[in-house]
Amino acid sequence: MKPSMPTDDTTRRRRSRPPPRLLQVIGKTEVSPGLLRVTLGGQALNGFGAEMKGPDADGSDLEAPVAAGTAANWAGASVKLLLPQAGQSADDLHRQMLQTQSTPDLARASASDQLQRPLKRTYTIRHHRPQQNQLDLDFVLHEAAGPATLWAINATAGQSILVTGPGRLRLLNTKADWFLLAGDLSALPVISCQLERLPPTAVGKVFVAIEHKLDIQRLAKPDGMELVWLVPDRNSITPGQPVTGAVAEALTEPGKLLLDACRNMRWRTGTPSVFMAGEASCIRSLRHWLANDRNLPAEQRYTAGYWASGHDEDSFQPIKMAHQLV
Ligand SMILES: Cc1cc2nc3c(=O)[nH]c(=O)nc-3n(C[C@H](O)[C@H](O)[C@H](O)COP(=O)(O)OP(=O)(O)OC[C@H]3O[C@@H](n4cnc5c(N)ncnc54)[C@H](O)[C@@H]3O)c2cc1C
Repeated sequence: MKPSMPTDDTTRRRRSRPPPRLLQVIGKTEVSPGLLRVTLGGQALNGFGAEMKGPDADGSDLEAPVAAGTAANWAGASVKLLLPQAGQSADDLHRQMLQTQSTPDLARASASDQLQRPLKRTYTIRHHRPQQNQLDLDFVLHEAAGPATLWAINATAGQSILVTGPGRLRLLNTKADWFLLAGDLSALPVISCQLERLPPTAVGKVFVAIEHKLDIQRLAKPDGMELVWLVPDRNSITPGQPVTGAVAEALTEPGKLLLDACRNMRWRTGTPSVFMAGEASCIRSLRHWLANDRNLPAEQRYTAGYWASGHDEDSFQPIKMAHQLV
């Protein structure tokens, strides 16, 4: 989706973005073999998201931050983890940040600070318990484990981590006639949150493409939202025509299944609200399909590349901006 032009409101929000918060690991839970939950907490979560309250900048339901009065719970929004480089600790980073108070965004630190620049990785808030000042983040344990995945695997109770956010909460438009959600395991946290926020009368389809059927979970959802798990071993439903050609080569196995399943689904009548997230090549193809084959206006769809096969998040960011995969 084309990013909306910043209005005075968004500009004000960006300017008043709070400095990163130093949180502690409370505990870890295996959600499924491929998904590890890390619970973070601490007093630094006081006022989490407070700067995001207020009217939506662009008036879009789909991108509304949070309606006034419901701002306390940021489940479904994202945070960025600031991961220390080798030889650093989160506490070192925090100290450095306090010393350079004029640059709360560490990415803008001066050249002499650059060696200390942390790596940034983005994760969905699966649960937010404002009363307890806690956040749950679910980490995909992917094969080419990068710094965030390794951090989660090795995290121990009491360990510190710097976190920025929340980012904007991309909500489905609950006034739509029906809903389509699609994504891979990295999008399962946000899809789960979206389903929990839908009205009980909601109808539509949810496709989740995963590598292994052991990662299938029971999701809380409205009865009318049909959930289909797509697993490369074909134990799931078999969609129609397989994806072929150059597109297929760029896709992961779950990506192929996801694209195939969406393209072959029965398209309901009425106005949909669509949310899709996952591997960038797959999402790019899906966005193209939604815009050009289904003629779906931009305000009825939100598509986001969450990661890119063959790229770490650092090298993916410029590609993401160039292709407007946000
Ligand atoms: C808004 C948003 C919300 C997100 N929410 C979540 C979330 O809740 N849970 C989650 O796990 N991820 C989530 N992601 C994706 C996550 O940020 C990326 O997967 C990130 O690259 C992981 O960082 P890393 O350090 O483990 O790997 P990187 O260092 O970034 O990458 C190392 C290698 O791993 C590959 N890789 C990265 N991610 C995956 C993956 N999921 N599957 C297979 N290979 C991969 C890369 O292609 C690269 O080759 C989200 C992304 C965005 C933009």
